[in-house]
Amino acid sequence: MNIALPLKTDFPALQQKIKGHDLVWLDSASTTLKPKSVITAVHQYYTHCSANVHRSVHTPSEEATAAYERSREMARKFLNARSTTEIIFTAGTTDGINLLATSLSRGILKPGNAILITQLEHHANIVPWQMLRDYHGVNLRIAPITATGDIDLDAFRAAMTPDVKLVAFSALSNAIGTVLPVQQMVRIAHEAGALTLIDAAQAVATMPVDVQALGCDFLVCSGHKMFGPTGIGLLYGRETLLDELPPARTGGDMIKSVTFEKTVFNDLPAKFEAGTPNIAGAIGLAAAIDFLLNIPFEAITRHEEALLQYAIMKLQEIPAVRRIGTPQKQVSIVSFVMENVHPHDAGSLFDDDGIAVRAGHHCAQPLMQHFNVPATIRWSFSLYNDMHDVNRALESIERILKVFS
Ligand code: PMP
Repeated sequence: MNIALPLKTDFPALQQKIKGHDLVWLDSASTTLKPKSVITAVHQYYTHCSANVHRSVHTPSEEATAAYERSREMARKFLNARSTTEIIFTAGTTDGINLLATSLSRGILKPGNAILITQLEHHANIVPWQMLRDYHGVNLRIAPITATGDIDLDAFRAAMTPDVKLVAFSALSNAIGTVLPVQQMVRIAHEAGALTLIDAAQAVATMPVDVQALGCDFLVCSGHKMFGPTGIGLLYGRETLLDELPPARTGGDMIKSVTFEKTVFNDLPAKFEAGTPNIAGAIGLAAAIDFLLNIPFEAITRHEEALLQYAIMKLQEIPAVRRIGTPQKQVSIVSFVMENVHPHDAGSLFDDDGIAVRAGHHCAQPLMQHFNVPATIRWSFSLYNDMHDVNRALESIERILKVFS
């Protein structure tokens, strides 16, 4: 379809058979497969170096430190942050939001302040804020979505009362594929004097994410959703804010000096990275970023758009299939239910055909409640999928419907 895209052979996981069939991976919203270059980078770190960072003067440690900090520079470039001091390595999106929630509760947020999220959010962008509500007296408000699964911008604007100090929302819904008008929402939040956190977990492998263009104050993402390893992620924060905020986690590496009476915290970004970090993960993430930066994002977007539109068109021709979420702007992800078939049963039957799909609530139970379904079947596309994958999944639907007819 697009010659600029990498081949399936770049992804070793796609070379396997599942129940006698070539694997079709339609679960990239859960995690993306890893290209060879990422696997090699992680392997090389453990094979040739595997020393700790920021500690010893020996050569292996200096090499590991240099590789780790090079990875930070890659991440800075990828997100277009102004400085590497604005890039904190985390364990992933969930970890980044928890880290930020803890830090904000110690620094900027006061009891009586409000946090606004949307009805579309992943549990990772709900539960940490409920903890602040329950343990720090912060109020939690929810901006509603429409029947199609779009953000209701008028209601969002109306929810921006003066007590709202933070607005946190995802750029792309992992459950139904809604693309949110991030820039516009950031502008509305800033005009009302609130800070903004973007959950870019789902967006980073599909669309360019530029923190300066978006204008956000904080942004989080996960390495494993952008062709990198699990257990590594990024928290971007505006330098002035990160400077102002106290650390969330404490211990080695995040200090300048310690006595029993007093600790002086390290400069950014070390202040937010206590303990031995995921060095291999950061190096693998840098390889993933390198992989992504070598493909024009328009090529990825165009490819995924074509697969999604084809899948939607074909799904709409099947009377027993009902799409869940029909947002104005949707990318990479389509969710649906099938008449008389529980999504989990469908998931197992897809698996019998070697097709990996996600069946469940997608860690977005409030969104499922909005659509009045307990679960959906979700197909999510990435650059290694093709029309043949979609056709195989469509054939599988026919077979599943026969089983349940
Ligand atoms: N937010 C969104 C929108 C997601 O899609 C996910 C992962 N499904 C997360 C947060 C959590 O990411 P992780 O499990 O990598 O921490």
